[in-house]
Amino acid sequence: AAPLLEAVGLRKSFGPTPALAGASVSVRPGEIIALMGPSGSGKSTLLHCLAGILVPDAGVVRYRGTEISALSETRRSALRRSEFGFVFQFGQLVPELSCLENVALPSRLGGMDRRAAERRAREWLDRLEVADLAGKRPGEISGGQGQRVAMARALVTGPRVVFADEPTGALDSLNGEHVMRSLVAAAAETGAAVVLVTHEPRVAAYSDREVVVRDGRTRDLSAEGGATGGA
Ligand code: ADP
Ligand code: ADP
Repeated sequence: AAPLLEAVGLRKSFGPTPALAGASVSVRPGEIIALMGPSGSGKSTLLHCLAGILVPDAGVVRYRGTEISALSETRRSALRRSEFGFVFQFGQLVPELSCLENVALPSRLGGMDRRAAERRAREWLDRLEVADLAGKRPGEISGGQGQRVAMARALVTGPRVVFADEPTGALDSLNGEHVMRSLVAAAAETGAAVVLVTHEPRVAAYSDREVVVRDGRTRDLSAEGGATGGA
C-alpha cells in the first residue's frame, strides 16, 4: 500500500549537533510504528516533524502525497486539527474542565454544537473505559485514567494518525500496558495509524513495526535480517 505519511532524509539542528541527521520513516494506513532509541537520539524531533509541528531544515514530509513540510504554519495547523490526534506524556488535559468537557473540546473547536460534541465525547470515554470519570476534573483522577481521557480526546475527531510521545512514560508498567492495549484497540476500531515514541520495549511490543533512532538517524529493524515480506 502507498504510505499515508512519510519522511525522507530529514535533517534538523537546534545547535551544533544535529537532532536529525538523515531520518526516514514511512507509515501505512492503520499501521502502528514505534520510534525507539536512547534519550536525546531525535525521536521527539522526528515525531514533531512528521506531525507538522516542526519543519525540517532539509528533507521532506509527505502526508497523502502532499509535502506538508512546505506548507505554511496556518495550513499545517489546519491539517493537524483535521487529520491528526496527539497524546503526550502528561500535562495535556485542561485542568479547569471536566473530563467530558476536555474530550468534547476538539469537536467544539471544530464548530460542533455542545450537545453533539458531548455525546461523542461520552462515546469515546466509554470506549476507553473511563465513562464514570466524565464529571471529574483532571486533578481528581489517576495518571493512567488521565492518559485514557487524553486518548479519548485524541481520537474523538476521527484522526487518520495519532501521535503518541511517551504516552506511558509517567505510568507504572501494568498501567502502561493497559493504556497501550486501549490505544491499540481504539486505533484498530477507527483505522487510525499510530506513531509512538517510547524507550520501553514492552510498550514498543504493541506496535506493528519498530524503527530505531540513534544519533538522529533511523534504522528500520523489520527491513533488515532477511526474514521480511509475506504477511
Ligand atoms: P529524544 O526524543 O530521542 O529524547 P529529542 O528529539 O527530544 O530526542 O532531542 C534530540 C536532540 O535535540 C537533543 O540533543 C535535544 O536536546 C535537542 N533538542 C530537541 N528539541 C530542541 C529544541 N526545541 N531546542 C533545542 N534543542 C532541542
Ligand atoms: P522527550 O523526553 O520526549 O525527548 P524532552 O523533555 O526532551 O522530551 O523535550 C520536551 C520539549 O522540549 C520538546 O518539545 C522538545 O522539542 C523541547 N526540547 C528538548 N530539548 C531541548 C533543549 N535542549 N532546549 C530547548 N527545548 C528542548
